[in-house]
Amino acid sequence: MDQRRAEHGQSTGPVSLYGEFTLTANRKVRCAVSLTEKDLIVQRLSSAPVGRNKVVLSLKDCIGCRAYRGDDTADPAAYLTIFFYPLKRRWMSSGVSRQRAEQCFRLVGLQDPRANLEEAEKWARAVRERSARQQYLRDGVMMSALSRPSRMMLLVNPQSGKGQALTLYNNHIQRMLNEAGVTHTLVITERQNHARELVKEADLSQWDALVIMSGDGLLYEVINGLLDRPDWEKAVRTPLGILPGGSGNALAASIHHYSGAPPVFSEELLLSCGFLLCQRLVTRMDLVSVHLSSSPRLFSFLSLAWGFVADVDIESEKYRHAGAARFTVGTLVRVASLRVYRGTLSYLPVAEDDGEEDDPPPHHQAPPSRDAPCQNSFHNSCHSNNSLKVRKAESTPSRNATKAPRGPPDSLLLPLDQPLPGDWVVVPEEDFVLVLAMYQSNLAEDLLASPDSTPDDGFIHLFYVTGGISRAALLKLFLAMEKGLHLASSCQHLVHAKVRALRLEPSSPKGVITVDGEVVEYGPLQAEVHRGLARLITA
Ligand code: ADP
Ligand code: MG
Repeated sequence: MDQRRAEHGQSTGPVSLYGEFTLTANRKVRCAVSLTEKDLIVQRLSSAPVGRNKVVLSLKDCIGCRAYRGDDTADPAAYLTIFFYPLKRRWMSSGVSRQRAEQCFRLVGLQDPRANLEEAEKWARAVRERSARQQYLRDGVMMSALSRPSRMMLLVNPQSGKGQALTLYNNHIQRMLNEAGVTHTLVITERQNHARELVKEADLSQWDALVIMSGDGLLYEVINGLLDRPDWEKAVRTPLGILPGGSGNALAASIHHYSGAPPVFSEELLLSCGFLLCQRLVTRMDLVSVHLSSSPRLFSFLSLAWGFVADVDIESEKYRHAGAARFTVGTLVRVASLRVYRGTLSYLPVAEDDGEEDDPPPHHQAPPSRDAPCQNSFHNSCHSNNSLKVRKAESTPSRNATKAPRGPPDSLLLPLDQPLPGDWVVVPEEDFVLVLAMYQSNLAEDLLASPDSTPDDGFIHLFYVTGGISRAALLKLFLAMEKGLHLASSCQHLVHAKVRALRLEPSSPKGVITVDGEVVEYGPLQAEVHRGLARLITA
């Protein structure tokens, strides 16, 4: 046995636990099971086909485990089941996606059933401890995570996307959360604004996290509900999770992108986000406050769009049954009837030294939060693409915060009808095909619109496409966006700037503006980023 231990130890570090169990599914198969700091190694001792003898499972891919007695009281055995969701090569394709792989062992080393159960529980504790260490330690820094066990409120919109969110919950998420030891209460939304009203009144001390299973629209409701509470400052720090259940799953796709894994879609994206939710890592998330001319101020976590992107989002609602493909269809239809919008776009650029700023202002800081420094490498210029001819606004700055009843004050904005301070940039062009502000990486599952965005970089990534672009060039941009390569395509009509605040004054009489994919009042607007205001469960 010592010899075997040494062999196992060679590959992934010293073995901390070793045992010989049988498989629950086939008691004739005996296995030598070793636990190292990083892996669970299962070696079949009975004869097995060559090559399938030894399996090494990374504890990074483990979401939980369970030790229990069987149903038969006369049987002294205990059982140990460990739940893994490793990245596996997809059948008939080159991609990888997370797939469930459980390991079930039967422990009958002793005659005493209690002793067997204790042994199984000892293994379960050791696996949990090590997998938490593997998942929370990044480059030697311990990340913030939810306390365990965790209690979550899971809000599901049964109407979102193809109307399958509840089925997807029943088929995948319920089991996954149980495996990970996440207690959750399912809330099925009954109508628009139901979730918003609910979180506005909820006793948040009951929940470690609020999780949304829908498209981005439901999270938008939840965030605005939280910021509409008298205790908004505390409420907005409730960790938020998202599981893709809609047709517009931009935040879910962004979270998957932040994990560094290659893109996946539909149910594979759901499994990835479910896995990341079970890991329970929490980071800060920027929110952008948006002022419209006559509606109350609102908060946005994803995007602000005018022109092409907003039109596609809204017109493609009728292809909702197609799921995420609705945007592809919508894009093709819109390219065919391309139009230009007139207006004035201005912004406050990020100062060059802002990238080294490491922490948001004190009232933004509170546990749980990730303690890693700002990861953004903002070293060149704030205009990452075409050189930009700018004219400076002529007014003098007077930084009066526009006071709003709830939520943090905006320190960079003046009233909408007042001229802008001198450090703002006014874009010289007035004809736009689209204006898009992004603060997460993905605009849709297959649109990596802002590849450098991170949840807490404190930047609004402003993109605009000026009039005069050909249909072919625009289509090329959107095709390149699938891989996030549109900025590298050196299209003269596309401009990207990192900004802290922006103002948009449309002069075309009609048009669509969306915030996080939802239509808002058409007309002048301005927005400012609040770094790290919210909390997000992410990779
Ligand atoms: P999708 O990506 O499919 O659009 P969303 O999460 O964006 O999914 O939801 C679309 C809209 O449905 C949101 O505006 C949300 O407020 C609303 N909504 C939430 N629950 C319900 C419900 N039970 N019935 C109808 N609409 C709902
Ligand atoms: Mg939506």
